[in-house]
Amino acid sequence: MRIPLSELPPLTGPLRAEALLAWLRTSDSEALEHLWARADELRREGVGDEVHLRGLVEISNRCVRQCAYCGLRASNGGVSRYAMSDEEILECARKIRDFGWGTAVLQSGEDPAFTGERVEALVRGIKAETGLAITLSLGERTEEELRAWKRAGADRYLLRFETSDRALFERIHPPLPGRECDRLALLRLLREIGFEVGSGVMVGIPGQGFESLARDLELFAELELDMIGLGPFIAHPDTPLGATPPPLPPDQVPATVDMAFRVLALARVQRPEANLPATTALATLDRQQGRVLGLKRGANVVMPNVTPLHHRARYNIYPNKASSNETAESTRALIVGQLASIGRTVAVGPGPSQAFRRRTQGAGGGLP
Ligand code: SAH
Repeated sequence: MRIPLSELPPLTGPLRAEALLAWLRTSDSEALEHLWARADELRREGVGDEVHLRGLVEISNRCVRQCAYCGLRASNGGVSRYAMSDEEILECARKIRDFGWGTAVLQSGEDPAFTGERVEALVRGIKAETGLAITLSLGERTEEELRAWKRAGADRYLLRFETSDRALFERIHPPLPGRECDRLALLRLLREIGFEVGSGVMVGIPGQGFESLARDLELFAELELDMIGLGPFIAHPDTPLGATPPPLPPDQVPATVDMAFRVLALARVQRPEANLPATTALATLDRQQGRVLGLKRGANVVMPNVTPLHHRARYNIYPNKASSNETAESTRALIVGQLASIGRTVAVGPGPSQAFRRRTQGAGGGLP
């Protein structure tokens, strides 16, 4: 649909679903150039030119869930499973600190070996020794655990709602037997507990229509997210969605890097002061330019992988993941070079979102 720039709504957010839909659907190249430029401008005004690097540690690929999109799903027998020891994780945190970055992100499948108490001790240990900001991305956990981790010093939590289309979500993300699964309620709880809260979606999930994608973007604003992570859906052959995709609806969102950029740019319009990563999924579909274009179209964060080389190839949420056969040092060198090539600098310090600072410190911030 070639809706020309002159007929599109102005990019002053937060936008409502109808306006978002027009921007998601247009194929007008002038309009898209305008969207990229506006997202870049809002990024500069909202969060500046510095890029925050977050060291990503994939602490376990074990998972009890059966997500239809994810290669780590419990019933995928083709995965060689690993879980890092506490000492190995601490070693990664030291490396992040020595690189001069301010945040460690611990991510995993839903692995019962990482009990509430164990994660609590891990968070305390990392904090005490490195002083890093700590982001957790460990899936759906109990209120008691989340509160304990916050008390132990965890700063942020990432939990994507994946799609606002409830029926689609239930098809691709079955609950544990006898349990409810309401990620939006969990996100509200995380916020109430005092975490900096991140969420996001996959773009182009089979069965995802444009209207629900517009609603996803509306929700980014309604949830007042501090961090928004998103990337294209990438089919994994050993998953139900990859092996036997369902019949696609007529308004299926394409799972392309271009569509993901569009959602990223619109996420910046929705939340000018949030932290938005140029994700690994973008870098996976466009090895040369995915990260750099993400940073030019709204993103201000990169999450370089620091998982030890002997583990990282096994954290296969989707195939051919970028950086899966590099060391932390080579990933770092690559990303620092990419930043320099576009005139962006590496931020120093923990780098909470401007949105979070405003909420907790009053206008203008005050944190380093
Ligand atoms: N177990 C944690 C961490 C999951 S990995 C959790 O569920 O929150 C982080 C993100 O990777 C997921 O939220 C999902 O959006 C994304 N992801 C998983 N499988 C994917 C796939 N096949 N293609 C693209 N993104 C995927």
